[in-house]
This record gives sequence, C-alpha cells and structure tokens, in this order.
Amino acid sequence: MLDLSYTSPKPKTIAGAHEDWELVIGLEVHAQVSSNAKLFSGASTKFGAEPNSNVAFVDAAMPGMLPVINQYCIEQAVRTGLGLQAEINLFSAFDRKNYFYPDLPQGYQISQLYHPIVGEGEVLVEMGNGEARLVRIERIHLEQDAGKSVHDMDPNNSFVDLNRTGVALMEIVSRPDIRGPEEAAAYVIKLRQILRYLGTCDGNMQNGNMRADVNVSVCRPGDYEKFRVADDFSLLGTRCELKNMNSTRFIQAAIDVEARRQIAILEDGGTISQETRLYDPDKNETRSMRSKEEAHDYRYFPCPDLLPLNIKQAWVDQIKAGLPELPDAKKARFVADYGMTEYDADVLTAEHANAAFFEDVAKGRDGKQAANWVINELFGRLHKDDRTITDSPVSAGQLGGILDLIAKGDISGKIAKDLFEIVYTEGGNPAEIVESRGMKQVTDLGAIEAVLDKIIADNPAQVEKAAANPKLAGWFVGQVMKATGGKANPKVVNELVAKKLGG
Ligand code: ADP
Ligand code: MG
Repeated sequence: MLDLSYTSPKPKTIAGAHEDWELVIGLEVHAQVSSNAKLFSGASTKFGAEPNSNVAFVDAAMPGMLPVINQYCIEQAVRTGLGLQAEINLFSAFDRKNYFYPDLPQGYQISQLYHPIVGEGEVLVEMGNGEARLVRIERIHLEQDAGKSVHDMDPNNSFVDLNRTGVALMEIVSRPDIRGPEEAAAYVIKLRQILRYLGTCDGNMQNGNMRADVNVSVCRPGDYEKFRVADDFSLLGTRCELKNMNSTRFIQAAIDVEARRQIAILEDGGTISQETRLYDPDKNETRSMRSKEEAHDYRYFPCPDLLPLNIKQAWVDQIKAGLPELPDAKKARFVADYGMTEYDADVLTAEHANAAFFEDVAKGRDGKQAANWVINELFGRLHKDDRTITDSPVSAGQLGGILDLIAKGDISGKIAKDLFEIVYTEGGNPAEIVESRGMKQVTDLGAIEAVLDKIIADNPAQVEKAAANPKLAGWFVGQVMKATGGKANPKVVNELVAKKLGG
C-alpha cells in the first residue's frame, strides 16, 4: 500500500564552526487511551472534573486494593498497533517501575518493560513536497499515568489531584529515524491523525492527552548511514531527552536549540552527558532537569498483582477487520477516484470527519467541484468563525443541494456563493431559497439578447473599440451581468456577445 516512489528528505544539517553536523531524533509519544474508565479501575477519565473526584481506591493505593485490567484499553492498544502496521504480541506482561513522587501514591507505575503489547511498526511521514520518511516504530506499551501536583493554588502548600492517576497511556516509541525538526513535527501530526482515525486517542495536545519526549543527538555526515547498516547505537552521538513536549511548534524550536547546544559543546572539545532536559519557550533554551536514569534505577520487576496478558489471534483478527480506512489509503483513494490533487486530498483527509463530510457531498456529483466547494467555501468560512466541520451550520445535504442547482444551470457559480452565505447564516433549503428570492439564473436567450442589444445601442464607441480589439468584448459580458444582477447565464452571455460583436 505504501507508495515507494517518494524520495527521502535530506537530513537537517547545521554548520558548526569547523564542520557540518546532522540531527538524529527519536520520539517517545505518550498518548492517552480513549476510554471512559482507567487502565486498572472503573474510575472515570473525564477531563476537567472536580479534583480528586475520579479516584477509585486502587488509584489512591489504599491498602489491599488490587488492579483489574480494563479489556477495552487492551483492545485500544491492539487497534493502535494494527493501525501502525505493527506486530501484535499475543503475550505481554506488566511490570512495576518504582519511584517516589507525591502524585504517585502507589510508589510505582505499572508499565510494560520486558514484554510490550505491540512490537515493530512504521509510520509514513510525508513532508508535503513529494518527499517522505518511513519512521520505524520500535514498540508500544501500556502504562498508567501519574497524578498532578498543583503548586499555584496556595503560597504555602502544594496539592495533589489524583484524577489522572491510573489513566491508560500508550507509549509509542520510535526508532531514531527522524532527521530534522520539521520531520519531528510532521511525525507527531501524522501519528495524531492516525490515532484520531482509529479512535484510540483524541490527540488533544493542549490538555496533555498527547505529549512527547524528544530524544536528540547530533552526528557527523555519514555516521547515521553506518548506524542503519550495523544497527549499532554507539555509532550515534549521545542523546539528550527533552521531556513532556505538547506543542509541535515548540518541538521544532526545542530540537533546533538543543542540537546547536550540543554542537557548540562538541566543537569545543567537550562531551555530551546523557540527561533529561526541559525546554523553556520564553528563553528558547533547554535546561538540565536530571541526569539520565537507567532502567535498573527503577528496580523494574513483574507486577505480582497482575497475570501476564494472553490474547487470542482470533480477537486480534476481529479488531483488524473492524479497522476504519486509514489516512494513507483514504488519501490515495481520493486522488484516484475523484481526480483531486494530493494537496486537496491532504486537506480533506486531515480529519476523518472532514473526509466523511466531503464524501457525502461528492456522492453522485462532480468530485472535483465538490472538493473545491468544501475546501474553499465551506472550510474557508468555518475557519473565519473558528469552527470545525462538526459544528458546521451547512450540512452536506445543503451544500450538495447548492451544487445540484449549479449543475442544473439554475444558478451561476457567482450566485451560488451568495446562496451559500445565505444558507450558512440563515439555514434553509437551497432550491427553495433560489425560488423564493428570485435568484434563478436567466437562460432565456431572448431576454438576454434584449439587454445586450440595448447596451450595444447605448455604447457605439465601445463597439468600435471592440471591433478593433476582440479582447474588449469582455466589457459587454460584464455589462450584461451587471444589468441582470448577475443572474444571466454567463455561458449564454458569452456566446451571444461573441456572435454579435465578433461575427
Ligand atoms: P528511555 O525510556 O530510557 O528514554 P527508550 O528506549 O524507551 O529509552 O527510548 C529511547 C528513545 O530515544 C527512542 O525513541 C530512541 O529512538 C531514541 N534514541 C536512542 N538513541 C538515540 C540517539 N543517539 N539519538 C537520538 N535518539 C535516540
Ligand atoms: Mg524516555
């Protein structure tokens, strides 16, 4: 299904004082699983609830409470894996990752270190100019989210909100295949798009429902290719991890400053120490948070409260059969079936709801024209009002009705735009509006001819000029349109003008 005619983008190169450097980036994306209940409890996951109101005993780590796995979260992880063309591990298991934090009452996070539920997959990241990178996914594991410490409510006290504690997260780990800031942003956007199509994560980055740890290192040109051949990480530079990024704009800026910081150190003869850093958008710099912890620092061990997870291939197959058409396939189909440009197909498939709306409008109609109207008129108008397709005042049926009136020759394209605005602001049935407001196009040859004859009679000088220069005939077309309030059928007018002045 993947179109391998794409060429790979060049890696981003930064010129140092002495030599060129290339960027190497790998992302760990934390995506909150769309599920009404938490991973190991029945507590609600609703955003914005009263603090500490969505907390079951097990989330608060009350003594003797035991986690019970939420099958729907497992299904969502499997669905995500399938959507990323990944291997699904029928055997997986949960481990305890031990650390202390005030917002982690258990004193450990339940995660999957040794046996993640999803193995290797891939994501095609298109750069919008015919170039694309196939980014490999290393694994996806399920884990619990932590709670939230609140430091800005009181001058002397900090508070803890456990609503988020125990909410299911998928950690989607990429291979270090991303080679520049723009690619990193495009990867996050593509991943978000796929997850939203699958319905496994709402991708709301503002609410922190999707956030990324961005690993950055730099290397000399050629070293990355050697790494790809040998799969030997020692051929790459030491990475630093930029924690908890939830904006694609900041991801790009952070990668750029972090790479430059590393290059300056290396060119100065220094070495990079592997650490976790935070990006400060106000100062546009990254700051050290802590030295990098290793897996052994967490004293991982299999969670004794949970049996390993054994899922059946038949169940996986059933989930696979229920997958929706995904963005790459939908885009290819739109280009092939409707003859639209890749750009238009990108716009229409960016969100599943946009694509569905378009297909409703295009059904039984001219697809290219439908695409034009949906993108330029409808999306343009919605954008102006800061609205999305889900709260569009114009339904697919209404927009289709407008296109039908154009196709029948009842209204011109220009009148159709006025009609669209009326339907957008006032609602109503397009055909009825055209009828009741007298917007119907005049195609009656005799009526148009009478108007044109009068204009010709009143403007002998223009007639003379047009005889010398046929390009000036357009002036007469304009006058007829003006005299008829834009309702004359432009095709008929053009033909008549050509006949009278050109003949
Ligand atoms: P950890 O949990 O310790 O951060 P993971 O293996 O889960 O380790 O994730 C490491 C991430 O860092 C992966 O996305 C991987 O692709 C990326 N990575 C590893 N080495 C490098 C490197 N030299 N440069 C950039 N990214 C790297
Ligand atoms: Mg990490």
